[in-house]
Amino acid sequence: SSRIKIGIIGAGSAVWSIPVLIDIMLKKSLANADVYLMDIDLDRLKLVYGFAKRYAEEIHSTVNFHTTTDRVEAIKDADFVINSAMAMGHSYYERMREISEKHGYYRGINSVEWNMVSDYHTIWGYYQFKLAMSIARDIEEYAPNAWLFDVANPVFELATLISRKTKVKIIGLCHGHMGIKNVIRELKLPQDKVEAEMIGFNHVIWLTKFKVDGEDGYKFLDKWIVTEAEKYWKKWRETTANPFDIDLSPAAIDMYRNYGLLPIGDTVRGGTWKYHWNLETKKKWYGPYGGPDSEIGWAMYIAYLKMRLYEIYKAITNASRPLTLLFPPKPSGEQVIEIIDSMVTGTPRTFQVNVLNNGSIPGIPDNVAVEMPAVIDDKGVHRKTFSPLPSKIQKYVIYPRMMRMEWALEAFLEGGRDKLFEWLIYDPRTKSTRQVEETIDDLLKMPGNEEMAKHYS
Ligand code: NAD
Repeated sequence: SSRIKIGIIGAGSAVWSIPVLIDIMLKKSLANADVYLMDIDLDRLKLVYGFAKRYAEEIHSTVNFHTTTDRVEAIKDADFVINSAMAMGHSYYERMREISEKHGYYRGINSVEWNMVSDYHTIWGYYQFKLAMSIARDIEEYAPNAWLFDVANPVFELATLISRKTKVKIIGLCHGHMGIKNVIRELKLPQDKVEAEMIGFNHVIWLTKFKVDGEDGYKFLDKWIVTEAEKYWKKWRETTANPFDIDLSPAAIDMYRNYGLLPIGDTVRGGTWKYHWNLETKKKWYGPYGGPDSEIGWAMYIAYLKMRLYEIYKAITNASRPLTLLFPPKPSGEQVIEIIDSMVTGTPRTFQVNVLNNGSIPGIPDNVAVEMPAVIDDKGVHRKTFSPLPSKIQKYVIYPRMMRMEWALEAFLEGGRDKLFEWLIYDPRTKSTRQVEETIDDLLKMPGNEEMAKHYS
């Protein structure tokens, strides 16, 4: 049949379910699509399915929604598969964080230079890597022509791994690059006159092109730093209610000074240990909550996610109040359904994607996933080529981050305790070999980690 089929794996995601479902229902090109919502959590599945059905009725959408707990049913003959699943759930990683901290690894052994993001699970993401690979294997077998959109983290590692090890056409997506909009707003620049380009790795992207009405945009930033920054930071420390409000934080400006380009979006959350030693350090660089990846900021985020699910529950159990009141029928701004629309209609548009480099950014191997703008249409992704990143970013940011990616992939693919040992012995928080051994022991002994323990034995 010619009906478009979209399979969503991890459809119960607190972050992704609602924006993706509304975006689908708003697209003319997907009016008759079959959308398979797949999750292993029946309660969440019921929740998002209930939402989709009622929302469709309210806005007279003709999209056909199905639910299943069978991944193959969702993937078989699909044109597009979206992966928003997170194996084991947030609480599992919080338990590993707690164990790590007992051994001196603040925010967990997974938090390392240029990846401090608290749900970007790399070295301890065994189950997450395994799940993503199983999804890719199912696609190879049951929907070999499908595009896989991976919004599940760690986008950098998963896009590289799946591109290398399977035949699946995968695009990793992240909304971090939208952070540029906050920069433009804070600098009071005219949004429609700004030309911006950000390249690098996922969560490690740098503003390589910045033009305002043809003029060098960095001029405006430099002026802001001299005349406005101190005032801005003072007010921000007193009033900001959002731990993610860090686009022009002291950390962002310090990175700009040190590396020569402005870090965008989640890039600001990374950096070296200079910004992250402890809560006090984090507060200095990221404001009153210590940013999103402190014990305060992350607890706020987890609470917000729970609240979001509860809001959906409340909304769909209240029959008298239209869902569209709480969730207006407007495009979310997320890229994934826009990309599907461009592919279905053959309308070329530029998107920020994570795909293998293949020569696009000089100095990065071809078989490493980079994040960059690319044109997408019905024929797929059309890469551009870029100038190299500045030498300092290349050597002190890109290479070290790439190395951690390679180590995490190696650990997942090869197994063996030595891979965890190597990861930790390079960590500046490590004071002794014994600390490394005891940390590994305790993490692998944690209930739920039986299979992972075997892998790393
Ligand atoms: P969540 O726990 O709310 O959602 C994950 C869903 O995956 C849950 O419904 C869970 O039941 C499901 N799941 C778990 N194991 C599964 C399996 N084996 N098969 C199918 N489904 C399974 O998490 P969240 O906070 O919504 O985050 C989801 C993912 O999105 C995470 O990886 C997170 O890091 C990522 N994320 C990405 C971006 C981005 O811009 N790319 C932004 C925020 C979050």
